[in-house]
Amino acid sequence: MPEFRFRAHMSKAVRVRDVIIGGGAPVVVQGMTKTDTRNVKATLDEIYRYVDVGCEIVRVAVPDHEAAEAVKEIVAHSPIPVVADIHFDYRLALEVIKAGVDKLRLNPGNIGGRDRVEQVVRAAKERMIPIRIGVNSGSIEKNLLHDYGRTAETLVKSAESHIQILNDLDYDNIVVSLKASDVPTMVAAYRLMAKTYDYPLHLGVTEAGTLFQGTIKSAIGIGTLLAEGIGDTIRVSLTAPGEEEIRVAWEILKSLKLRDRGANIVACPTCGRLQFDMWPVTNELERRLATIAEPITVAVMGCAVNGPGEAREADVGLAGGKNMGLIFRHGEIVRRVDQKDMVEELWKEILDAAEEVRAG
Ligand code: SF4
Repeated sequence: MPEFRFRAHMSKAVRVRDVIIGGGAPVVVQGMTKTDTRNVKATLDEIYRYVDVGCEIVRVAVPDHEAAEAVKEIVAHSPIPVVADIHFDYRLALEVIKAGVDKLRLNPGNIGGRDRVEQVVRAAKERMIPIRIGVNSGSIEKNLLHDYGRTAETLVKSAESHIQILNDLDYDNIVVSLKASDVPTMVAAYRLMAKTYDYPLHLGVTEAGTLFQGTIKSAIGIGTLLAEGIGDTIRVSLTAPGEEEIRVAWEILKSLKLRDRGANIVACPTCGRLQFDMWPVTNELERRLATIAEPITVAVMGCAVNGPGEAREADVGLAGGKNMGLIFRHGEIVRRVDQKDMVEELWKEILDAAEEVRAG
Protein backbone atom coordinates (compact mmCIF):
# COMPACT_ATOMS: atom_id res chain seq x y z
CA MET A 1 0.00 0.00 0.00
CA PRO A 2 1.43 3.46 -0.84
CA GLU A 3 2.63 5.40 2.20
CA PHE A 4 2.86 9.12 2.88
CA ARG A 5 4.81 8.66 6.08
CA PHE A 6 8.22 9.34 4.56
CA ARG A 7 9.71 12.79 5.22
CA ALA A 8 11.31 14.61 2.32
CA HIS A 9 12.03 17.50 4.65
CA MET A 10 13.89 16.33 7.74
CA SER A 11 13.35 19.09 10.21
CA LYS A 12 14.85 19.42 13.64
CA ALA A 13 12.65 18.93 16.68
CA VAL A 14 11.19 21.82 18.68
CA ARG A 15 9.51 21.23 22.04
CA VAL A 16 6.34 23.14 22.96
CA ARG A 17 5.52 22.20 26.58
CA ASP A 18 5.11 18.41 26.17
CA VAL A 19 4.47 18.39 22.41
CA ILE A 20 7.24 17.85 19.84
CA ILE A 21 7.02 19.58 16.46
CA GLY A 22 9.37 18.26 13.77
CA GLY A 23 12.24 15.80 13.97
CA GLY A 24 10.01 13.07 12.52
CA ALA A 25 7.34 13.39 15.24
CA PRO A 26 3.69 12.89 14.18
CA VAL A 27 2.23 15.95 12.45
CA VAL A 28 0.64 18.12 15.17
CA VAL A 29 -2.87 19.63 14.89
CA GLN A 30 -3.18 23.27 15.96
CA GLY A 31 -6.14 25.57 16.46
CA MET A 32 -6.65 29.23 17.25
CA THR A 33 -9.31 30.57 19.58
CA LYS A 34 -11.90 33.00 18.24
CA THR A 35 -13.09 34.40 21.56
CA ASP A 36 -11.78 37.65 23.06
CA THR A 37 -8.64 36.49 24.91
CA ARG A 38 -9.45 38.93 27.72
CA ASN A 39 -12.46 36.74 28.52
CA VAL A 40 -10.60 33.92 30.26
CA LYS A 41 -13.63 31.71 30.85
CA ALA A 42 -14.90 31.90 27.28
CA THR A 43 -11.40 31.27 25.92
CA LEU A 44 -10.83 28.26 28.18
CA ASP A 45 -14.28 26.87 27.31
CA GLU A 46 -13.33 27.14 23.66
CA ILE A 47 -9.97 25.42 24.28
CA TYR A 48 -11.72 22.51 26.05
CA ARG A 49 -14.08 22.16 23.08
CA TYR A 50 -11.07 22.13 20.73
CA VAL A 51 -9.34 19.48 22.84
CA ASP A 52 -12.45 17.29 22.61
CA VAL A 53 -12.13 17.19 18.82
CA GLY A 54 -8.35 16.65 18.80
CA CYS A 55 -6.58 20.02 19.08
CA GLU A 56 -3.01 19.55 20.32
CA ILE A 57 -1.66 23.12 20.48
CA VAL A 58 -3.78 26.26 20.70
CA ARG A 59 -2.94 29.85 19.74
CA VAL A 60 -4.54 32.91 21.28
CA ALA A 61 -4.39 36.47 19.96
CA VAL A 62 -2.73 38.94 22.35
CA PRO A 63 -3.65 42.41 21.11
CA ASP A 64 -3.16 44.34 24.37
CA HIS A 65 -1.95 44.34 27.95
CA GLU A 66 -5.26 43.02 29.32
CA ALA A 67 -5.10 40.04 26.96
CA ALA A 68 -1.47 39.41 28.00
CA GLU A 69 -2.59 39.36 31.64
CA ALA A 70 -5.35 36.86 30.82
CA VAL A 71 -2.77 34.53 29.23
CA LYS A 72 -1.43 33.62 32.68
CA GLU A 73 -4.69 32.01 33.76
CA ILE A 74 -5.35 30.53 30.33
CA VAL A 75 -1.94 28.80 30.33
CA ALA A 76 -2.44 27.60 33.90
CA HIS A 77 -5.72 25.85 33.03
CA SER A 78 -5.15 24.81 29.44
CA PRO A 79 -4.59 21.06 29.03
CA ILE A 80 -2.62 21.72 25.82
CA PRO A 81 0.28 24.11 25.06
CA VAL A 82 -0.68 27.74 24.47
CA VAL A 83 0.91 29.96 21.81
CA ALA A 84 0.65 33.75 22.09
CA ASP A 85 0.14 35.61 18.83
CA ILE A 86 1.93 38.98 19.06
CA HIS A 87 2.15 41.80 16.57
CA PHE A 88 4.32 44.92 16.85
CA ASP A 89 4.53 45.33 20.65
CA TYR A 90 7.60 43.67 22.23
CA ARG A 91 6.27 44.45 25.73
CA LEU A 92 3.36 42.07 25.15
CA ALA A 93 5.85 39.35 24.22
CA LEU A 94 7.76 39.94 27.45
CA GLU A 95 4.52 39.87 29.45
CA VAL A 96 3.29 36.57 28.02
CA ILE A 97 6.70 34.93 28.45
CA LYS A 98 6.52 35.93 32.09
CA ALA A 99 2.95 34.56 32.22
CA GLY A 100 4.33 31.14 31.25
CA VAL A 101 3.20 30.91 27.63
CA ASP A 102 4.54 27.85 25.78
CA LYS A 103 5.43 29.42 22.43
CA LEU A 104 5.37 32.77 20.66
CA ARG A 105 4.19 33.59 17.20
CA LEU A 106 5.85 36.85 16.25
CA ASN A 107 7.98 38.30 13.51
CA PRO A 108 11.08 39.83 15.08
CA GLY A 109 11.37 42.39 12.27
CA ASN A 110 8.02 43.86 13.36
CA ILE A 111 8.58 44.46 17.07
CA GLY A 112 11.09 47.32 17.04
CA GLY A 113 14.89 47.74 17.05
CA ARG A 114 17.61 45.31 18.04
CA ASP A 115 17.43 46.20 21.73
CA ARG A 116 13.74 45.22 21.92
CA VAL A 117 14.18 42.00 19.97
CA GLU A 118 17.15 41.18 22.20
CA GLN A 119 15.03 41.50 25.34
CA VAL A 120 12.38 39.15 23.92
CA VAL A 121 14.95 36.61 22.69
CA ARG A 122 16.78 36.62 26.03
CA ALA A 123 13.52 35.96 27.90
CA ALA A 124 12.44 33.26 25.41
CA LYS A 125 15.85 31.57 25.72
CA GLU A 126 15.70 31.58 29.51
CA ARG A 127 12.35 29.77 29.47
CA MET A 128 13.21 27.68 26.40
CA ILE A 129 10.17 28.97 24.51
CA PRO A 130 10.17 28.52 20.72
CA ILE A 131 9.24 31.32 18.36
CA ARG A 132 7.22 30.77 15.21
CA ILE A 133 8.06 33.20 12.48
CA GLY A 134 4.71 33.57 10.75
CA VAL A 135 5.03 35.08 7.29
CA ASN A 136 1.67 35.93 5.74
CA SER A 137 1.12 36.99 2.12
CA GLY A 138 -1.20 39.76 3.30
CA SER A 139 1.40 41.47 5.47
CA ILE A 140 4.76 41.11 3.68
CA GLU A 141 7.20 43.99 4.20
CA LYS A 142 6.57 46.82 1.72
CA ASN A 143 10.14 46.89 0.38
CA LEU A 144 10.07 43.16 -0.46
CA LEU A 145 6.66 43.51 -2.05
CA HIS A 146 7.92 46.42 -4.13
CA ASP A 147 11.08 44.59 -5.27
CA TYR A 148 9.75 41.06 -5.82
CA GLY A 149 5.93 41.12 -5.82
CA ARG A 150 3.64 38.76 -3.93
CA THR A 151 5.40 35.52 -4.85
CA ALA A 152 6.60 32.35 -3.16
CA GLU A 153 10.18 33.67 -3.29
CA THR A 154 9.07 36.86 -1.52
CA LEU A 155 7.48 34.86 1.30
CA VAL A 156 10.73 32.94 1.75
CA LYS A 157 12.83 36.13 1.62
CA SER A 158 10.62 37.64 4.31
CA ALA A 159 11.07 34.55 6.51
CA GLU A 160 14.83 34.67 5.91
CA SER A 161 15.05 38.26 7.10
CA HIS A 162 13.30 37.36 10.37
CA ILE A 163 15.39 34.19 10.80
CA GLN A 164 18.56 36.26 10.30
CA ILE A 165 17.56 38.62 13.14
CA LEU A 166 17.09 35.67 15.52
CA ASN A 167 20.21 33.83 14.33
CA ASP A 168 22.28 37.01 14.87
CA LEU A 169 21.17 36.82 18.49
CA ASP A 170 22.24 33.17 18.60
CA TYR A 171 18.62 31.97 18.76
CA ASP A 172 17.59 28.91 16.81
CA ASN A 173 14.48 27.55 18.54
CA ILE A 174 12.38 28.44 15.52
CA VAL A 175 9.30 27.17 13.64
CA VAL A 176 8.39 28.81 10.31
CA SER A 177 5.12 29.34 8.46
CA LEU A 178 4.70 30.88 5.00
CA LYS A 179 0.97 31.27 4.60
CA ALA A 180 -0.72 32.60 1.49
CA SER A 181 -4.38 32.60 0.52
CA ASP A 182 -3.33 31.53 -2.96
CA VAL A 183 -2.76 27.78 -2.84
CA PRO A 184 -0.08 27.43 -5.59
CA THR A 185 1.93 30.28 -4.00
CA MET A 186 1.71 28.71 -0.56
CA VAL A 187 2.75 25.28 -1.85
CA ALA A 188 5.69 26.74 -3.81
CA ALA A 189 6.87 28.79 -0.82
CA TYR A 190 6.99 25.81 1.55
CA ARG A 191 8.74 23.66 -1.07
CA LEU A 192 11.39 26.35 -1.47
CA MET A 193 11.83 26.75 2.27
CA ALA A 194 12.13 22.99 2.79
CA LYS A 195 15.02 22.84 0.29
CA THR A 196 17.22 25.17 2.29
CA TYR A 197 16.25 25.13 5.97
CA ASP A 198 15.69 22.44 8.56
CA TYR A 199 13.33 24.47 10.76
CA PRO A 200 10.04 22.68 11.42
CA LEU A 201 7.30 23.94 9.13
CA HIS A 202 3.84 24.99 10.27
CA LEU A 203 1.53 24.58 7.26
CA GLY A 204 -1.57 26.59 6.51
CA VAL A 205 -3.55 28.33 3.79
CA THR A 206 -4.37 31.73 5.22
CA GLU A 207 -7.79 33.35 4.87
CA ALA A 208 -8.95 30.14 3.19
CA GLY A 209 -12.57 31.27 3.51
CA THR A 210 -15.83 29.56 4.32
CA LEU A 211 -16.32 25.99 5.48
CA PHE A 212 -16.85 24.56 2.00
CA GLN A 213 -14.26 26.47 -0.06
CA GLY A 214 -11.78 26.81 2.77
CA THR A 215 -11.84 23.08 3.46
CA ILE A 216 -11.03 22.32 -0.17
CA LYS A 217 -8.25 24.93 -0.39
CA SER A 218 -6.72 23.74 2.87
CA ALA A 219 -6.96 20.08 1.94
CA ILE A 220 -5.25 20.72 -1.37
CA GLY A 221 -2.56 23.10 -0.09
CA ILE A 222 -1.72 21.32 3.13
CA GLY A 223 -2.39 17.85 1.69
CA THR A 224 -0.10 18.37 -1.32
CA LEU A 225 2.81 19.31 0.93
CA LEU A 226 2.21 16.55 3.47
CA ALA A 227 2.00 14.01 0.64
CA GLU A 228 5.45 15.21 -0.46
CA GLY A 229 6.80 14.73 3.05
CA ILE A 230 6.88 18.45 3.93
CA GLY A 231 5.27 19.85 7.09
CA ASP A 232 5.41 19.18 10.82
CA THR A 233 2.29 20.89 12.17
CA ILE A 234 -0.88 22.17 10.53
CA ARG A 235 -3.58 24.71 11.14
CA VAL A 236 -6.68 24.93 8.98
CA SER A 237 -8.10 28.51 8.89
CA LEU A 238 -11.82 28.76 8.20
CA THR A 239 -14.51 31.39 8.57
CA ALA A 240 -16.33 28.88 10.78
CA PRO A 241 -16.20 27.62 14.37
CA GLY A 242 -12.69 26.52 15.38
CA GLU A 243 -13.87 22.96 16.03
CA GLU A 244 -14.55 22.65 12.30
CA GLU A 245 -10.95 23.68 11.54
CA ILE A 246 -9.67 20.93 13.80
CA ARG A 247 -12.00 18.34 12.33
CA VAL A 248 -10.84 19.26 8.81
CA ALA A 249 -7.18 19.11 9.92
CA TRP A 250 -7.73 15.59 11.24
CA GLU A 251 -9.49 14.50 8.06
CA ILE A 252 -6.48 15.70 6.03
CA LEU A 253 -4.09 13.71 8.24
CA LYS A 254 -6.36 10.66 8.24
CA SER A 255 -6.81 10.77 4.45
CA LEU A 256 -3.03 10.59 4.01
CA LYS A 257 -2.81 7.94 6.74
CA LEU A 258 -0.39 10.13 8.66
CA ARG A 259 -2.44 9.99 11.87
CA ASP A 260 -5.39 8.03 13.15
CA ARG A 261 -8.26 9.50 15.12
CA GLY A 262 -11.98 8.96 15.16
CA ALA A 263 -14.20 7.16 12.74
CA ASN A 264 -13.56 6.75 9.06
CA ILE A 265 -16.83 6.61 7.11
CA VAL A 266 -16.89 4.61 3.91
CA ALA A 267 -20.16 5.32 2.11
CA CYS A 268 -21.18 4.81 -1.48
CA PRO A 269 -22.33 7.88 -3.45
CA THR A 270 -25.67 6.11 -4.18
CA CYS A 271 -27.07 5.60 -7.66
CA GLY A 272 -30.15 4.17 -9.40
CA ARG A 273 -29.61 0.82 -7.69
CA LEU A 274 -30.11 2.31 -4.21
CA GLN A 275 -32.45 0.14 -2.15
CA PHE A 276 -33.26 2.33 0.87
CA ASP A 277 -33.30 6.00 2.01
CA MET A 278 -29.57 6.27 2.71
CA TRP A 279 -28.68 9.97 3.03
CA PRO A 280 -30.57 10.57 6.32
CA VAL A 281 -28.76 7.53 7.76
CA THR A 282 -25.24 8.68 6.75
CA ASN A 283 -25.92 12.30 7.77
CA GLU A 284 -27.09 11.31 11.23
CA LEU A 285 -24.19 8.86 11.62
CA GLU A 286 -21.66 11.53 10.61
CA ARG A 287 -23.11 13.87 13.26
CA ARG A 288 -22.90 11.20 15.97
CA LEU A 289 -19.49 9.86 14.89
CA ALA A 290 -17.92 13.30 15.49
CA THR A 291 -17.97 12.39 19.19
CA ILE A 292 -16.01 9.12 18.72
CA ALA A 293 -12.23 9.42 19.13
CA GLU A 294 -11.40 5.74 18.53
CA PRO A 295 -10.13 4.90 15.02
CA ILE A 296 -12.90 2.67 13.64
CA THR A 297 -14.20 2.25 10.10
CA VAL A 298 -17.94 2.38 9.45
CA ALA A 299 -19.25 1.45 6.00
CA VAL A 300 -22.74 2.21 4.69
CA MET A 301 -23.48 0.86 1.23
CA GLY A 302 -26.64 1.30 -0.79
CA CYS A 303 -27.21 -2.08 -2.44
CA ALA A 304 -25.96 -5.60 -2.98
CA VAL A 305 -23.46 -4.71 -5.78
CA ASN A 306 -20.57 -3.47 -3.63
CA GLY A 307 -22.40 -3.36 -0.33
CA PRO A 308 -21.55 -6.63 1.38
CA GLY A 309 -17.90 -6.47 0.22
CA GLU A 310 -17.22 -3.02 1.68
CA ALA A 311 -19.38 -3.62 4.73
CA ARG A 312 -17.40 -6.78 5.50
CA GLU A 313 -14.06 -4.90 5.44
CA ALA A 314 -15.25 -2.36 8.00
CA ASP A 315 -15.43 -2.64 11.80
CA VAL A 316 -19.15 -1.93 11.51
CA GLY A 317 -21.01 -2.07 8.20
CA LEU A 318 -24.44 -1.77 6.71
CA ALA A 319 -25.33 -3.20 3.31
CA GLY A 320 -28.69 -2.02 2.06
CA GLY A 321 -31.53 -4.16 0.71
CA LYS A 322 -35.15 -3.32 -0.12
CA ASN A 323 -36.13 -0.92 2.72
CA MET A 324 -33.84 -2.84 5.04
CA GLY A 325 -30.17 -3.43 5.73
CA LEU A 326 -27.78 -6.11 6.92
CA ILE A 327 -25.48 -5.07 9.75
CA PHE A 328 -21.94 -6.50 9.72
CA ARG A 329 -19.36 -6.65 12.51
CA HIS A 330 -15.83 -7.53 11.40
CA GLY A 331 -17.15 -9.24 8.28
CA GLU A 332 -19.96 -11.23 9.92
CA ILE A 333 -23.66 -10.48 9.47
CA VAL A 334 -25.02 -9.80 12.94
CA ARG A 335 -28.62 -8.90 12.07
CA ARG A 336 -31.14 -7.57 9.62
CA VAL A 337 -32.76 -4.19 10.40
CA ASP A 338 -35.67 -2.20 8.99
CA GLN A 339 -35.10 1.29 7.60
CA LYS A 340 -36.66 2.94 10.67
CA ASP A 341 -34.26 1.19 13.08
CA MET A 342 -31.05 1.54 11.04
CA VAL A 343 -29.44 4.51 12.80
CA GLU A 344 -30.11 3.28 16.33
CA GLU A 345 -29.02 -0.29 15.59
CA LEU A 346 -25.85 0.84 13.82
CA TRP A 347 -25.11 3.25 16.63
CA LYS A 348 -25.26 0.44 19.22
CA GLU A 349 -22.73 -1.56 17.20
CA ILE A 350 -20.49 1.51 16.75
CA LEU A 351 -20.42 2.21 20.50
CA ASP A 352 -19.60 -1.42 21.10
CA ALA A 353 -16.80 -1.37 18.48
CA ALA A 354 -15.37 1.81 20.04
CA GLU A 355 -15.42 0.12 23.44
CA GLU A 356 -13.55 -2.84 21.95
CA VAL A 357 -10.81 -0.50 20.65
CA ARG A 358 -10.58 1.24 24.04
CA ALA A 359 -10.23 -2.09 25.80
CA GLY A 360 -7.41 -3.01 23.35
FE1 SF4 B 1 -25.08 2.33 -6.42
FE2 SF4 B 1 -25.06 0.14 -4.93
FE3 SF4 B 1 -22.71 1.27 -5.68
FE4 SF4 B 1 -24.24 2.47 -3.86
S1 SF4 B 1 -23.25 0.43 -3.66
S2 SF4 B 1 -23.30 3.44 -5.65
S3 SF4 B 1 -26.31 1.98 -4.60
S4 SF4 B 1 -24.23 0.33 -7.03
